[in-house]
Amino acid sequence: MSFAALGLPEPILRSVRAVGYQTPTPIQSRAIPMILPGRDLVAAAQTGSGKTAAFLLPILTRLLDGPRRLRALVLVPTRELAAQVEESARNYSRHTNVRVGAVYGGVPIPPQERMLRHQGVELLVATPGRLLDLQGRQSVALEEVEVLVLDEADRMVDMGFAPDLRRILALLPERRQTLLFSATMPGELNRVASEALRSPQRLELAPPTRPAASITQAFYPVPRHLKTDLLDEMLRRIERDGVIVFTRTKHGADRLARQLERRGHDVVVLHGDRSQGQRERALRDFKKGRVDVLVATDIASRGIDVDDVSHVVNYDVPRAPEDYVHRIGRTGRMDATGDALTLVSPEERKEAEAIERFMGLRVARQQVPDFDYHRTAAPAADRETRERRPREGGRGAAPTTGRVTVRRWGADAPSAHSSGGTQSHGPSAPHASGEGAGGRRRRGSSDAPRSRRRM
Ligand code: AMP
Repeated sequence: MSFAALGLPEPILRSVRAVGYQTPTPIQSRAIPMILPGRDLVAAAQTGSGKTAAFLLPILTRLLDGPRRLRALVLVPTRELAAQVEESARNYSRHTNVRVGAVYGGVPIPPQERMLRHQGVELLVATPGRLLDLQGRQSVALEEVEVLVLDEADRMVDMGFAPDLRRILALLPERRQTLLFSATMPGELNRVASEALRSPQRLELAPPTRPAASITQAFYPVPRHLKTDLLDEMLRRIERDGVIVFTRTKHGADRLARQLERRGHDVVVLHGDRSQGQRERALRDFKKGRVDVLVATDIASRGIDVDDVSHVVNYDVPRAPEDYVHRIGRTGRMDATGDALTLVSPEERKEAEAIERFMGLRVARQQVPDFDYHRTAAPAADRETRERRPREGGRGAAPTTGRVTVRRWGADAPSAHSSGGTQSHGPSAPHASGEGAGGRRRRGSSDAPRSRRRM
């Protein structure tokens, strides 16, 4: 199946070719022909599936002709996602005259007002709160909106945006096309959806509870007080592109980032309390490979669109199994493979088991060889040595590719064999002494010394 066969017009096809997409992803092949004729759609779609192009390409097709005014509105939960959807829309519309813009909180409002009033856009990406602010200041007119997208709708509801969504719905024309993309369908979202959509078509590709099969998962049981030590050890031993470490709380993210920095890792933090400038800088530094570890909270996990994430580490077991699937969806994007490592303290064992039940999978339990799981705390002297121990590589050391070569399981170290009783899932036995890396293909990886050992 090609993009042309989906009925997209030439200017859009040229833009898609320029971005480098060869074939539509499953959600694109299914959703684009459903959206083009103008019907409402509810799609169960995960981040990483290519859902953004699935709704943007048919919308841009519609905007090619017709009046030049705000005609399509995409609502998203976070500023990061707004910026990313805007960037995608600019890419997909580069051979058209469709004007695209984004508005979101955390940055001054006047430039956004100027953009809307003076420059004008046909397609606007917005977070709900900022859109309502702008509407209250009469800087944006929503009466002529023909298409509404609710992207990552479950997260918008999770974040308490349901009342804002209802207010926005009341400002839009009743006759419009509405598209809802969501990984899950909590009750509150169902209610919003029944108010927003008219006899929608439904599209569900993969069960939304399952992470992509290309992601290898493992649980690492560890006493709570040794989590940072174990993570430190993992970061030193695994060979990686970029690592996202998730914590439950903003405070926890800041604390962990400080601890990792003290141990010599280059770290950035992403969470809701960071200013827009800080978040953008953090993401830029991470994407460019200037730092190799991004510590983030769940809110930030949506909408992080970074291709070369080799590992996701759950420093805390996420409370909601859905969050686990979302977190680990940050790796294994598109065709790439990825590893998801979860540190499970005894207190979190039940939550880890709930995640397995949710996914219908048993996740392998692993141990890092030679790691002292019985010590009461990391010996201070050892920490000192580690802090001074030069690293073999680092993302900064390979600026052309952004790749990193860190200390691998040393030849002297026993293999990272799985602990007794380990069960695994997926096509290959994961994590068994690193051979799992054999089939792994990553962009730009050919220059790095191989013989990866991974956990
Ligand atoms: P999304 O699920 O929309 O966040 O997309 C995930 C990633 O897939 C983004 O980096 C897109 O640029 C990329 N992508 C989307 N569609 C395609 C495609 N047909 N071929 C290759 N990459 C794609």
